[in-house]
Amino acid sequence: MIKYKLICKDCNTKFDSWFASSNEYEKLKKRKFLTCHSCNSLKIEKTLMAPQLINSKNKSETKLNTAKYQKIKKTIKNYQKFIKDNFQYVGDNFAYEARSIHYNNKKKSKGIYGSASTQDLKELKDEGIEAQMFPWIDDKEN
Ligand SMILES: [Zn+2]
Repeated sequence: MIKYKLICKDCNTKFDSWFASSNEYEKLKKRKFLTCHSCNSLKIEKTLMAPQLINSKNKSETKLNTAKYQKIKKTIKNYQKFIKDNFQYVGDNFAYEARSIHYNNKKKSKGIYGSASTQDLKELKDEGIEAQMFPWIDDKEN
């Protein structure tokens, strides 16, 4: 389907109309089936607006994916809030801090979170230090 913004050259009324294709628009115009909604004039022209192509299937899929993404994003955001409230942020020092807690019995009232490479995580795991990895959405993305 193509949506055109049409304009009546006689009374300047603008209105939207849907066509199966741009050919259909030309056909209807030639057969004088296109008339102004307010003055019945046949002097109908397309305005220079770019036609919008609508594919109903794609549209609903996009909508669904967006909803799904928003739901996942919300779940991650909730995790992030929980972690921010209950854990101490150590930034890039995550591996170092995790080791000092593990080896020095360093007493921290809070757990820690921060960034670590997959190599860091592997090494920590080899040393018997368990760390959870989960997706993180940067607040700036909002
Ligand atoms: Zn008109």
